[in-house]
Amino acid sequence: MADTDGGAAPGIETQILVAGAGSTGLAAALAFARAGWRVTLVGRLPAPLPGRTVALFEASVRFLDSIGALDAVRAAACPIETIRMIDDTEQLLPVPDLVMRAEEIGLPAFGLNVSNDELTAILLERARAASLDIVEAEIVDYDFEGDAVIATLADGRRVEAQFVIAADGRASRARNAAGIDTKEWTYPQVALTALLRHELPHDNISTEYHTRSGPFTLVPLPARGEAQNRSSLVWLMNPRDARRRLAEPRAELEYELEDFSRGKLGAMTIESGVGEFRMGGMQVSRLTAGRLALVGETCHVFPPIGAQGLNLSLRDVADLEDCLASVDLRNERELSRALMRYELQRRADIGFRTHGVDLLNRSLIIPYLPIDLIRGAGFVAMTALGPLRRAVMREGVAPHLARPRLMRAEEPREPRMRGRRPRPGAELVGAARDALALLRRGAAR
Ligand SMILES: Cc1cc2nc3c(=O)[nH]c(=O)nc-3n(C[C@H](O)[C@H](O)[C@H](O)COP(=O)(O)OP(=O)(O)OC[C@H]3O[C@@H](n4cnc5c(N)ncnc54)[C@H](O)[C@@H]3O)c2cc1C
Repeated sequence: MADTDGGAAPGIETQILVAGAGSTGLAAALAFARAGWRVTLVGRLPAPLPGRTVALFEASVRFLDSIGALDAVRAAACPIETIRMIDDTEQLLPVPDLVMRAEEIGLPAFGLNVSNDELTAILLERARAASLDIVEAEIVDYDFEGDAVIATLADGRRVEAQFVIAADGRASRARNAAGIDTKEWTYPQVALTALLRHELPHDNISTEYHTRSGPFTLVPLPARGEAQNRSSLVWLMNPRDARRRLAEPRAELEYELEDFSRGKLGAMTIESGVGEFRMGGMQVSRLTAGRLALVGETCHVFPPIGAQGLNLSLRDVADLEDCLASVDLRNERELSRALMRYELQRRADIGFRTHGVDLLNRSLIIPYLPIDLIRGAGFVAMTALGPLRRAVMREGVAPHLARPRLMRAEEPREPRMRGRRPRPGAELVGAARDALALLRRGAAR
């Protein structure tokens, strides 16, 4: 990472300080620099994440396009054309497999799956080529008192900024210095991650097995070198099983992977290190304070179910960029109005994802018949009701409440509508009507 100076340099002045150089911080710095702001990105380089990939859906793909990173990401990624969810909880009533195809909503793919390390390398390379300053350093202190924010770096330098975008992760120093409270909790789960080679092709299908310890997910990866068939693994389990599996010989673990995936992809070989991540959740009391806004894991953490985390973070960035467009950062009233809008716009999206993932995760790990029945009924309804399934798919890849400029594109055309654009929410209304009709028919029997 290029440092702007060495040693006893004078302070740095900037309009926007982005704190944290993980995937969210890099994306934020690129987005704001492209919009014409004077941006300084300050952060430690992200450490390699063994065996970790990230699935980015349609709205995020549009975002990557807007910041000029899509071609490079696409070259390193695999498209996800189909998502298959399999209930493997052995609950009382049989539950059908839920299969969702991107072509049903007029898209060639739901999104792209790419290695985390490759994604951050691409964003870093783009950031280096963009007109923004990058300082590889840790921020040790903030002063939010005056007309500008002063950030102090570990080597004593100071950065004076009109505004701070905090992207310094779940233990955010910026958030703590601004006095924003958090509520944190843990799950009795660990996620093991790895990159795998396998015997049979994945056909660009992502498969999620819902087990009693949490989801076991295989997401397609592109062929590389000799390895034609590759996928990434995210496997949630209790900490005791994680310890056992990490200690056992690789060949044993590979047999278990083949068993858990019901042999659908044939024999498995682990080609990367195996990553281990404790599962937890976090919510914040506020998303903004004075001259600061939170994005990414500084303001939401939840388990990797349904690949929501970074997709949500990029929506934070795109929304914030929208809210601050044409704001004079020195004008406190203008700024506080814009931040109020950001706070309002993000609350629903973040709350919905955090609670949705929490609910689904708990419904799996707590064996309780009524909950099993409700989850099973959800699978049945999604399988039987096309409009409901399509509405959920659309909401998953490009939520209609959050359509910031950087994520807007031509709406994919509904294949059966023959060019007529559906009214917003029309699919949900149709799905509700179908569900009511089904219920009435059931009640009449
Ligand atoms: C197993 C797993 C699988 C996942 N899969 C998906 C997926 O498929 N799709 C998806 O959308 N999401 C997924 N996620 C979530 C996603 O990976 C995270 O949301 C994302 O990596 C968080 O990025 P971030 O930049 O917000 O935070 P971080 O990656 O934590 O980055 C914060 C950065 O700030 C730096 N920093 C911290 N403090 C300071 C300081 N004081 N000064 C300077 N720098 C500092 C850190 O060094 C770090 O580089 C997954 C998560 C897990 C655990």
